[in-house]
Amino acid sequence: MFANGQTVIQWMEQWAPKSLAYPDDKIGLQLGTLNKEVKRVLVALDVTEAVVDEAIALGVDVIIAHHAIIFRPLTHLRTDLPAGKLYEKCIKHDIAVYIAHTNLDITEGGVNHLLADALGLVDCVPLDETYSEQLYKLSVFIPHPDSERVRAAMFRAGAGFINGVSNYSHCSFNIAGNGTFLPLDGAKPHIGEVGQLESVEELRVEVVVGERELKAVIRAMKDAHPYEEVAYDVVGLHNKGAKMGIGRVGRVLQAETLGQCCERVKQAFSLDYVRVVGDLQSRVRKVAVLGGSGARFVGKAKFAGADVIVTGDIDHHTAHDALASGMCIIDAGHHIESILKAAVAARLQTSVSEQGYETEIIASALSTNPFRLV
Ligand SMILES: [Zn+2]
Repeated sequence: MFANGQTVIQWMEQWAPKSLAYPDDKIGLQLGTLNKEVKRVLVALDVTEAVVDEAIALGVDVIIAHHAIIFRPLTHLRTDLPAGKLYEKCIKHDIAVYIAHTNLDITEGGVNHLLADALGLVDCVPLDETYSEQLYKLSVFIPHPDSERVRAAMFRAGAGFINGVSNYSHCSFNIAGNGTFLPLDGAKPHIGEVGQLESVEELRVEVVVGERELKAVIRAMKDAHPYEEVAYDVVGLHNKGAKMGIGRVGRVLQAETLGQCCERVKQAFSLDYVRVVGDLQSRVRKVAVLGGSGARFVGKAKFAGADVIVTGDIDHHTAHDALASGMCIIDAGHHIESILKAAVAARLQTSVSEQGYETEIIASALSTNPFRLV
């Protein structure tokens, strides 16, 4: 059996939720429909005509790409121009195009995480924090004999991490007390009888829940709870949970020169060359990395204590500013983000296969690097 397009994208969005993306980012379904059975998915960096031809040849139903296929509002859909022709080709072959951009850059295990791993960076933190998880306190009142079961169900659904992210799971606080209720006509009470005031020994169980788990935890709690009407409170907290952001900063395992760092970058991303700003003999202990256009982040990288930033699309003036401030840059090109193709395909394939679907997730084999060295 093949998975529905919506289902495949649900897994994608559980990993890289749209809420993580920059506000003006062009993400999500851009072309076609996900309301269909999906035999094959192609994961690409860019949607070029060659990539669409590859998708057609492979019998692909959905392309998941990093860079948007539609950037600006359309004023026409002329099929005698390259963009219009591309859209026409996708539609004619019933290929949907779904984009995961800054949400995929930012998320754990996403593009910037992959780049940092490829460079062997350790103790990584986000270069520019863009998101911190909203936390909630869930308090629920449970009769004693059922408390362990309900608590376990909430933990299984993701509740009970202190501050949402710590190395301690199954955290709860439990206070014993008495609950009272009077079942009215039409009620089917678990304890007591209609028309009779009841007093029951109950536990008030408190757990911390992150915003992403909240719905699932409430559902699990209600399913496991014996009462017809469950008494519970959800309170928003000012403490924040997991912090995420764009780019990563981390340490190299062994201090090296900028020249050695360049060689490692070339090796990590199979590059023939990189452009470098700074003294090749200068020492590198801390590295910032940001896929895509990193010009805006050079100052942030310096502020974060990085000796060098590995990124793409560095312009003349940014390079001069960096030189003047003593910051090093390795411009490895925007195309290093293509590292995401295999990683996204593998991760999504695991989710799809674990649920018993035959849908295939394929990493595009094409290079979409527009630059050639001559
Ligand atoms: Zn990019």
